[in-house]
Amino acid sequence: MSDHKSVANVEDFQKKDQEHIWHGMRPHSPDPSMIIEHAIGSWVTDIEGNRYLDGMSGLWCVNAGYGRKEIAEAAYEQMLDMPYYPLTQSHVPAIMLAEKLNEWLGDEYVFFFSNSGSEANETAFKLVRQYFHQTGRPGKHKFISRYRSYHGNTIATLAATGQAQRRYKYEPLAQGFLHVTPPDCYRCPFGKEAESCSLECANEIDRTMTWELSDTVAGVIMEPIITGGGILVPHDNYMKRVREICDKHDALLIADEVICGFGRTGKPFGFMHYDVKPDIISMAKGITSGYLPLSATAVRKDIYEAFKGDDKHDHFRHVNTFGGNPAACAAALKNLEIMESEKLVENSATLGKKLLEDLKTLESLPNVGSIRGKGLLAGIELVQDKETKEPLDEKILAKIVGSCKKKGLIIGKTSDTVAGYNNILALSPPLNLNDKDYKFLL
Ligand code: PLP
Repeated sequence: MSDHKSVANVEDFQKKDQEHIWHGMRPHSPDPSMIIEHAIGSWVTDIEGNRYLDGMSGLWCVNAGYGRKEIAEAAYEQMLDMPYYPLTQSHVPAIMLAEKLNEWLGDEYVFFFSNSGSEANETAFKLVRQYFHQTGRPGKHKFISRYRSYHGNTIATLAATGQAQRRYKYEPLAQGFLHVTPPDCYRCPFGKEAESCSLECANEIDRTMTWELSDTVAGVIMEPIITGGGILVPHDNYMKRVREICDKHDALLIADEVICGFGRTGKPFGFMHYDVKPDIISMAKGITSGYLPLSATAVRKDIYEAFKGDDKHDHFRHVNTFGGNPAACAAALKNLEIMESEKLVENSATLGKKLLEDLKTLESLPNVGSIRGKGLLAGIELVQDKETKEPLDEKILAKIVGSCKKKGLIIGKTSDTVAGYNNILALSPPLNLNDKDYKFLL
């Protein structure tokens, strides 16, 4: 129990919740929802006073932890000063944030601000298609992504998503999206060992571009580490090989850093582990640590230049009313300042290394098939049989998640019930997890 005193009438709110709130990603259940009322550090408290260590940072996003007064104050001050102005013109918080993001990227990108990861990716698809139109290659319109990836909830970002269960009831989705084999080293479909891997999964992108004709292929979208699709940490050379393939076929590389960005994997951005430079980088979630909605599509400068032509149709005909809201930008700036001053990216790297080592001790257990991760992002793949790698029944995983919750720990479970990849537990705690909370997590 916490010191926090609930103002809510528990049963009344539970009843109203069931009557009026449509919860995504959750089958209907007569059981009441967990209604969270208070959050501080890495902990959340529900209206009944139960406390939980949030091992998932909400939806993989509260990187700086809960209860950051400075972020709330920065947003408040900004709202008093100037709550809204559209980025069809400009405002100071957006300009300052763009400058800060380039410091984090160590490079010079141009930013298009939106509100969510889905919009950041959708923006990327649109601008890439327009870019090829305006540079004399209008046929280049197809995007390649990997099965098991997740890129968003809109009709185009779902088309890029490679998880059958999320897609199949909404089809037909946007056209021109193709999928290839993901780098799942534990279950390498090419029968290779990680050490002697010839990167067949990357080479499949090369073959796909050749067969589809390079002249029709606009780009590849990929998370540096597939997160929601099972914490698939690729071979160290995989992303570099994808970069080479993109260059060979004159296709752009879009890094979806919606989860991997802002320290989650122990570097500022996930791609930084792999010695590559993406052409476009989509970011959201950790940009504000979830305090306010915000996302950004970072674009290589010379791509942006192609939108400056004389033709009246050369500019980017894309807008969203709330994208880059001044208070959200102010919150993001303060969030990034906190992450810098408290060295949260470094903490994610060192604590994440320890987490992986500690979790690896579970590998001797009969149902633990694979442990993997980078930074404070980890996955535990559970199997019925280590020889056959038959996935452990999803119901057992649900029970594990449920019993952790009873003990006060929230963990995640990646799932694709149609394709059968529903056997991986996920951990993605706040990056300011302290030693005491770390011990509780384990
Ligand atoms: N890309 C990735 C890798 C994600 O994990 C998500 C959401 O979880 C998205 C895009 C979509 O972000 P949003 O839910 O903010 O639209």
